[in-house]
Amino acid sequence: MNKEEYRGVWVFIEQREGNLVDVGLELLGAGRDLADKLEVELCGVLLGSNIDQLTQPLFEYGADKVYVIDNPVLEQYRTETYMKAVGDLVRKYKPEIFLYGATANGKDLASAVATEVMTGLTADTTLLDVNVEKRLFEASRPAFGGNIMATILCKKHRPQMATVRPKVIKKPDRQEGRTGEVVQESIDLQEDDLRTKVIEIVKDTQKKVNLEEADIIVSAGKGIKDEKGFKMVEDLANVLNATVGASRDVVEAGICSHDHQVGQTGATVTPKIYFAIGISGAVQHTVGMANSELIFAINTDPNAAIFDVAHYGIVADAFEIVPLLTREFQKA
Ligand code: FAD
Repeated sequence: MNKEEYRGVWVFIEQREGNLVDVGLELLGAGRDLADKLEVELCGVLLGSNIDQLTQPLFEYGADKVYVIDNPVLEQYRTETYMKAVGDLVRKYKPEIFLYGATANGKDLASAVATEVMTGLTADTTLLDVNVEKRLFEASRPAFGGNIMATILCKKHRPQMATVRPKVIKKPDRQEGRTGEVVQESIDLQEDDLRTKVIEIVKDTQKKVNLEEADIIVSAGKGIKDEKGFKMVEDLANVLNATVGASRDVVEAGICSHDHQVGQTGATVTPKIYFAIGISGAVQHTVGMANSELIFAINTDPNAAIFDVAHYGIVADAFEIVPLLTREFQKA
């Protein structure tokens, strides 16, 4: 493999039913930074059917070029078709770095493309950088139960690929009117040639806890003790129009469902305000919430690690403070 032939930073742009998924835009921000350091182009890869209108926003979020394959066989995500389309693009244009969102589709596609083009993949990363001199992409992720950050390098193969957790990178500011180049490509596949058919799409209509999109999160830790304590936290969340989060210990105690869990094995969140109530601040929890804009902690233990990441803290019994806060916010 001649590594010198590989140039440019690529981002896989995920879209669902014609709407851009935020993580692709977040990755354009991270990709812009890498591309500027390496002095190369930042390119988006956009696949789907009837997706013309989605290219302009990508330029406004930082892409210099967008490779588009618009074909009815790409209307719904299928590993078979997307892997072929992206694999062909990689072989033809040879990007140096290729980023995907660590979503269900992004993880599936990235691992399939890595096998297809015989390269490595660093999964579920949270921090990206590049060694410009060596042209080595540095993708980091928590390892050993979140106790260390491991930086993983792909020294021999190209492209250097990573999936990146949604919400760990801030979406860049939109530059209205910024333009770039659209490169239309095609895919040589007919519906009849395909082994996978989409027969029906059944939407999950159950109300889900959407922690990733929440502006305010009120999170319960084991300090709230039981369901009664959790209800107290829910009451505060209700008056603040907030989403309820939880530590793993609360989930494992069966007090609430895993949808609520924040942290390494739960959601990564960046709300405007994060209330940590009776949460000790184990690294596996803080890795999922430390980038919140404002962190407010309540804990009886003045030495609790949560105070190291909190902007404001109260050393007190949550059972006294939380109902007081609920009453005061109710008045406001
Ligand atoms: P504790 O550590 O028991 O802390 C309870 C806190 O409440 C204490 O600080 C105490 O001082 C305080 N307290 C007690 N009574 C009161 C009161 N009346 N008022 C106010 N404060 C009070 N954890 C996660 O949260 N998310 C994850 O995704 C996650 N993933 C993990 C993955 C792995 C591989 C491993 C090994 C662990 C993971 N954990 C995760 C678990 C993590 O290590 C901690 O065990 C967990 O976060 C602790 O939860 P906690 O803070 O609620 O409980």
